[in-house]
Amino acid sequence: MGKTAPDLLPAEGGLGNEPLLEIDDLHVEFNTRAGVVRAVNGVSYSLEAGETLAVLGESGSGKSVTAQAIMGILDMPPARIPSGTIKFRGTDLLRLSEEARTQVRGQRIAMVFQDALSALNPVFTVGWQIGEMFRVHRGMNRRDAQKKAIELMDRVRIPAAKQRVNDYPHQFSGGMRQRIMIAMSIALDPEVLIADEPTTALDVTVQAQIMELLAELQRESNMGLILITHDLGVVADVADKIAVMYGGRIVENAPVFDIYRAPAHPYTKGLLESIPRVDQKGQELYAIKGMPPNLLDMPSGCAFHPRCPYRQDNCVTDPPPLYMISGERNSACHYWREVLDGTDG
Ligand code: SF4
Repeated sequence: MGKTAPDLLPAEGGLGNEPLLEIDDLHVEFNTRAGVVRAVNGVSYSLEAGETLAVLGESGSGKSVTAQAIMGILDMPPARIPSGTIKFRGTDLLRLSEEARTQVRGQRIAMVFQDALSALNPVFTVGWQIGEMFRVHRGMNRRDAQKKAIELMDRVRIPAAKQRVNDYPHQFSGGMRQRIMIAMSIALDPEVLIADEPTTALDVTVQAQIMELLAELQRESNMGLILITHDLGVVADVADKIAVMYGGRIVENAPVFDIYRAPAHPYTKGLLESIPRVDQKGQELYAIKGMPPNLLDMPSGCAFHPRCPYRQDNCVTDPPPLYMISGERNSACHYWREVLDGTDG
C-alpha cells in the first residue's frame, strides 16, 4: 500500500512561496436531462494568507459552484470536473483521496453558508452543535467541548454566551444564527474561510456587523477569506481584491480600489452603477438590462453581448480573452480601454 492519505496532505503553514490557495483553469460541468451545463469555464484565481477576495456575480455565474469545488462538496455525478487544478499550499486538492480531502474540509478550509436556519439542526442546542466540532475532530469530552463552544460564542460576539449556550437555533435572531454558523466554521482554526452570501437574508445594519466580524476574525487569525456575493456594495470595506464572474467565467479581476475607481468591464460598471447611493436620492436606480445567460445555450462570442451597452459587431462572434491591463488587473472585454475612459471621463 504505497498510498497513505495523510502523507498527501498540504503542509501546515506551507513549504515555500506557493500561494495559500490557487485555482487554475477550473472547469465544472453538470450532466442534466436537458444537456451539459458548463457552470464554470476556465476560472483562475489565487488567495494569500490574510487576504480577502470577493467573488462577485449574479446567481448562475459559477461563483458558488467554484466554492463547492474547492470544498469538495459537489455531487459527482451529476457534476464533473473535466480539467483544472485547485492547489492548497501547493497540493492539488483534486488529486487527493477522499480520505485526505476529509482532513482538509472543515478543518483547514471551512465554509459559511447563507441560510443559517436550515444549516443548523433545530433539535440540538447551539452549544451542542458548536461543541460537536471539538468532540468529533479533536476528541474532546462533552464538558471541554461545551467550554470551547462558549469561548467561540464570545469570540463571535454573542451576548451572554454562557447563559445562551443551551438555547436552540430558533431562539436566536437571523444575525445571531449567522454568528453561530461563523463560530462553527472557525472552530478548528481554518487557513481558508469561504463565506457564501453570508449576509443575504439579513437587514443592512446586521449585514455590516457580520462583515465587520468576518474582517476582525480574519485579522486575528490571518486566514485567507473568500467572500461570495452578488452585492458589490457589501464588500467595499473588507475586500482586498475582487473577481467578477459572468456566465461561468471571470470577466474582471483587480484590486478593490481599482474596481471602484474605474471598472474595466461593462458588466462590473453596470453592477457598480446599480448600487444605491445616498447622494442620488430620488433618482431612478440603474439596472443592467436583460437576464443572466442560459448556461445550456450560451450567447455566441462574448456572453455579455446581449446586455452590453458597449457592444460592437465583433463581440457577437469573437469571445474576448482575459486581457491583461496591468500586473494585477484583467478584463475579458475587447473594449476595456473605452470602458475605462468612459469611467474616468
Ligand atoms: Fe461588451 Fe463587447 Fe466587451 Fe463583451 S466584449 S463586454 S459585448 S464590449
